[in-house]
Amino acid sequence: MILPITAYGDPVLRKVGTDITKDYPKLETLVENMWETMYNASGVGLAAPQIGLPIRLFVIDTTPFSEDEDLSPEDQKALNGFKKVFVNAKIEEETGEEWTFNEGCLSIPDIREDVNRKETIKITYLDENFNEKSETYGGLLARVIQHEYDHIEGILFTDKLSSLKKRLIKGKLSNISKGKINADYRMRFPDMKKGR
Ligand SMILES: [Zn+2]
Repeated sequence: MILPITAYGDPVLRKVGTDITKDYPKLETLVENMWETMYNASGVGLAAPQIGLPIRLFVIDTTPFSEDEDLSPEDQKALNGFKKVFVNAKIEEETGEEWTFNEGCLSIPDIREDVNRKETIKITYLDENFNEKSETYGGLLARVIQHEYDHIEGILFTDKLSSLKKRLIKGKLSNISKGKINADYRMRFPDMKKGR
């Protein structure tokens, strides 16, 4: 089932997510719905707060990035078919140089900005079967994980912009929260009395 995506301005996007347990109600269906919602919106990642749930859960499939011809064959290979569920994730370490990538977000349609993040992350998490994982990622994979991870910490990529950039996009952000935007997927807007 395709769920409406929570738009910028909704307080749920500002909550630090809580850990979940194996008996979280209908977890399997929830994850299925998150995949469907993400693919429908042509996203490469989706975090639970973006469908209104302040829990530590996000999904990632970077396959669309693997078609980028500017990337090295190694990077393309790493991104192709990288499809994972992250439960109760914790970034243990971020290392390396900061680098810039033009980010977007399904909760913030039509805004893309350059964001600086560190190169490499070490992350521990549970997969969809609650198996413990501890992995290290770099490059674009790390980037997508960092973006989704921020969501379960109540952080959005627009928080990371300079104060000048923030001022420049302020009006656009306020329009998004009011639903004055044309997204080609279902959204839920906090400053509108009714969803659509
Ligand atoms: Zn996002």
